[in-house]
Amino acid sequence: MQDEKRKGTHWFWAAIGAITITVISDNISEKTKNIPVLNFVVGAFKWVYVNAARVLNSQIKLWIVLIFGVAVYIISRLLRNSEKGEPNLPAFYNYRSDRFKNWTWKWRWENSGRGWEVTDLAPYCSDCEVELSIEGSLFQVTARCPSCGKDFGQYSRSGLPCENRGDADKLIRARATKMSNG
Ligand SMILES: [Zn+2]
Repeated sequence: MQDEKRKGTHWFWAAIGAITITVISDNISEKTKNIPVLNFVVGAFKWVYVNAARVLNSQIKLWIVLIFGVAVYIISRLLRNSEKGEPNLPAFYNYRSDRFKNWTWKWRWENSGRGWEVTDLAPYCSDCEVELSIEGSLFQVTARCPSCGKDFGQYSRSGLPCENRGDADKLIRARATKMSNG
């Protein structure tokens, strides 16, 4: 606000100066019509006045544009902050995919109120980025890419080549904890 006031005063004096110059130069020009050099000087003064007035006018418009721009910026900032809802996202928020053994796992983070939890956890084809189809019985199932048909092996709760949701969830949360600790 200080700067705006100073700028306003500055332009006030510039306007006063320009008007004074015009009044003086008009009086001078009456007496110096026949002296070419002085005529030129008076002409130069008039040129300065006309351009000063033009700059002054555009400057006022610039201030209006500037104030309007600042207002729009502040309003958009306030709107963006209220839209976000969660301004303090954890360090691991963008950690949404990983490969622990042979499978690529993807998930989302959701704040349930009791803390951040892994949701929508699913294995994906490492070539196609398509979620694997899990087929079979309760105890032994196979994972296959519905896009390229690649067999990703067994998905079993008891078998050794097991890659399961429970393990993946534990590994994800362990890495996320490390991320948020530094
Ligand atoms: Zn595939």
